[in-house]
Amino acid sequence: MAEKLGVYICEGCELAKSLDTQALAEHLTNGKYSSQCAVVKTSAVLCAPEGVDMVAADIAAEGLDGVVLCACSPRSKWDVFKFGATQVERVNLREQCVWSFQADPTFPDLLQTMAKDYSRMGIIKCLKSKNPNPEIPVTNKDILVLGGGFTGLNAALNAAKMGHNVILVEKDAALGGKAAGMLKTFPMTYPFTQAQDTGVDKLIADVTANSKIKVYTSAALAKLEGAPGLYTATVTSGAGEEQLPIGAVVLATGWKPIEGSFLAPMGYGKFKNVVTTAEFEAMAKKGAITRPSDGKAPATVAFLLDVSMAVKAAEAALAAAQAAAAAAPAEAPKTGDACETAFVYKNMESAKHLAYSSELNSLVALKQAGYVREKNADASAYILYDHMMVPGINERYYRAAQDNPGVMLSKADITEIAQDGDGGILVTAKNTLLGENIELKADLVVLPTGMVPVTALEPTINLQYRQGPAFPDLELFDGFADSNYICFPYETRRTGVYAAGCVRQPMTLATAYDDAAGATMKAIQCINSANRGVAVHPRSGDLSAPVFNFQRCTQCKRCTEECPFGALDDDEKGTPKPNPTRCRRCGTCMGACPERVISFENYNIDQMGSAIKEVQVPDTFALGGPRVVVLVCENDAYPALDMAAFRGKKWNPYVRFLPVRCLGSVNAIWVADAMSKGIDGVMLLGCKYGDDYQCHFVKGSELCNRRKINIAESLQRLGVEAERVEQYEVSIDEYDKIPALIESFMENVIKKFGPNPFKGY
Ligand code: SF4
Ligand code: SF4
Repeated sequence: MAEKLGVYICEGCELAKSLDTQALAEHLTNGKYSSQCAVVKTSAVLCAPEGVDMVAADIAAEGLDGVVLCACSPRSKWDVFKFGATQVERVNLREQCVWSFQADPTFPDLLQTMAKDYSRMGIIKCLKSKNPNPEIPVTNKDILVLGGGFTGLNAALNAAKMGHNVILVEKDAALGGKAAGMLKTFPMTYPFTQAQDTGVDKLIADVTANSKIKVYTSAALAKLEGAPGLYTATVTSGAGEEQLPIGAVVLATGWKPIEGSFLAPMGYGKFKNVVTTAEFEAMAKKGAITRPSDGKAPATVAFLLDVSMAVKAAEAALAAAQAAAAAAPAEAPKTGDACETAFVYKNMESAKHLAYSSELNSLVALKQAGYVREKNADASAYILYDHMMVPGINERYYRAAQDNPGVMLSKADITEIAQDGDGGILVTAKNTLLGENIELKADLVVLPTGMVPVTALEPTINLQYRQGPAFPDLELFDGFADSNYICFPYETRRTGVYAAGCVRQPMTLATAYDDAAGATMKAIQCINSANRGVAVHPRSGDLSAPVFNFQRCTQCKRCTEECPFGALDDDEKGTPKPNPTRCRRCGTCMGACPERVISFENYNIDQMGSAIKEVQVPDTFALGGPRVVVLVCENDAYPALDMAAFRGKKWNPYVRFLPVRCLGSVNAIWVADAMSKGIDGVMLLGCKYGDDYQCHFVKGSELCNRRKINIAESLQRLGVEAERVEQYEVSIDEYDKIPALIESFMENVIKKFGPNPFKGY
C-alpha cells in the first residue's frame, strides 16, 4: 500500500478559472489525510515539462511511493504521467468536475465540494492500492494451428515467419480444406474482375517444406489442458497420441455446408437437377458441368439466391418445435444436425435470405455463372437474387458479370419450383426487374450453400476447463467462435485461442488471408503477454491478477461459474484454482464473491468502498442537495463521459463518478456502503448486454443486471427503495445521451423517493 503521497493540482485547461485550487490544496493539506500527504502543490500546467519534473523531483527528494494527480482524465496524458515504480492515481477534475459542471445557484460552493470529494476519493484509492508484482511463468512459444485449410495454412506460415514453431493439426488426410476443392476463387488482385486460382497448392507446398511447421494429418486435438503459454495439447493421429507443449492456438477449423433438408422446400433432394453451389463447385473442379439426371451439359443454369420458400417452411417448423417444447420441455440438442437446424431456424426470424454467408452466396453465384460460360460459350446463366451483396471492391466483379452477355441478373422473389417431363426445372418468380412475373425453364438449378461453423457442429477444441470443453454461449454468435465482433475480432471466450477464417464468420479467401495474419498476431501477442505476466486485450499490459484469501472461501463456486473466460478451475471441494494467464482481469469474480475473498492489489473491495465513503453527503437536501454515486465502466461509459465533457455537455452536479473495470466487477457491498452512508441513489453505467451485447468482458454488464435483483431484495429488507439502484446501458458513441440519462434518474428516482432514509445516521 502507498503510504507517503504527493498530491498535485493542475491549474491549466481552465481549471483554475472556476476552481479555487489554493483552497483545494489547503483542504487536502489540513484534511483527514494530511499525515499521509507529504506534499500538496498546485501547478500552472501539470503536464508541461516543469510540472512533470516537479513531481519527479518530489518523488526523489521525499521518497513518495504514490502521487495523486488532480488534473485531466486518466485517458489523457497517460504517457506523460509515468513515474517508474511510484503509484499514480489520476483524479479527473477537468472532464468530470470543471468542464461538465452545471451550477445550481442555491449552493454556490458545489464545484469546490465536488473537487474536494474527487480529490479525497483519489487519495484513499492510492493509499489502498499497491503495484502488482506477480510471479512470471516460464512459457512456451509454440503455436498450435487447428485446421489445415486456406486460413490455417496461412496462419502456420505467418507464425513460422515470426520465428515460432508451429504444430498444424488437420483432421482430413490431406491439407487444403475447402479451398482445395474449389476450381477458382473470387478476384483477389487488380482489376478485381476475374475469378482466379486459389493458390492453395503453393501454400501446401510452402507449409510442408517449412522446417518450423510440423504437420499432422488425419489428426485431432483430443485435449487442450492448461493455460496460455502453458498448454499441453494431446494430438492423436495415425502415429498414436502425442503430448505437445503449446503457447497459444489459432482455431481455423472452417465450416460445413448447411443441412440439406433445409432446402427441401425448393426442390433439393426431390428433383435431381437441383443442386447446391457446393456440389456445383465440386463438379466444376472435377471437369465438366453436367446434369445429375442424364449427364448432359446444361444449356441453361439458374442460380437462385432467394430462399424465402425454405425460410417460411423453417419458420413453420420452428413454431411447431417451440409449441412442442412448451408442451414437453426437453434438453436442447448441443451438437449435430438438430443443433444445426436450430441455428438455421433462429436466423430465419430476421433474415429473408439464407442464414449464414449471404454475401458469399452472391459472390459464389457470380463466380459459378462464370464457370457456366467458360465451359460452354453457348450456355446461359441466370442469377435471380433477393439481395445482391457485393460490398467493397467486389462491386467491380459484379459489374464484370453484368457485362457478360450470357449472364442475366435480376432481382426476383421465387414463388414456385417444379420439374417438367424432361428433367428441366421450372422456376416461377415475381417482383423481377422486368416488371412482370416470369417462368424460367432451366436445365439445372443451383441453390446457395449455408456455411455452418464447425464449432457449432462438433467438438473441436476439447478444453480441459472447469467450465467445459467448448466455447460457451456460441448460440449468441450463431455458432461462430468469436467473442466480440465489434471490438475484438479473433478473440474467443477462451484466452489464448484465436479464431480465424470461416469458423469466425463467413468470408472470402481474401478476407481469410487477412484473418490468418490477425489471429496469428493475437496468438503471438498472447504468448508474449503471458511471458511478461500481463493481461491481454482489453486490459493489455495489466500486471494485476485476482488474489484469493482462501481462508474465507465457502466454496460456493460463484466465481468459477461466472468468470466469463473460464479462468478459474476448482478442486474437488470447490475451492477456486486460478489460472492467471487465462485471466483478463475484469474483476467479475470479485463482483461475484459474497465473502469478499477476491481482490486485486490495485483494485479491491476495501479501496472502492472507502472511495465511496469519501463522498460528502449533506444531512438533508436543503443543506447541499442530494448525492448519487455512479459506478462507471471504464471501457465505454467512462470514455463517453469524457467525450461528453469535451463537447461542452453539462450535467447534474450532485453525481460522483467512480470508474470500475467492468460492471461485472461491482460487488453488492459497494452499493450497501453507499446506501448506509446516506447516498440517495446509485447508477450503474455500463455496456449493452443481451444478444447485441457490447460488454468488453462478454457478460459482465449482464451479470451485474442479474445481481441487481439480489441487491434490490437486500435494499427492500432494509426499508430502502430498490429503485434507488438502476443500471443503464451506454455505448461509447452515446455520449450526448449521458446528461439526459443522469437528469432522468434525478427526476424520476431521487425527486420521487426523496432523501435516503439512512441519511444523517
Ligand atoms: S478477473 Fe475476470 S477473467 Fe480473471 S478470474 Fe476473475 S472473472 Fe475470470
Ligand atoms: S465466490 Fe468467493 S466464496 Fe465462492 S468459491 Fe469463489 S472465492 Fe470462494
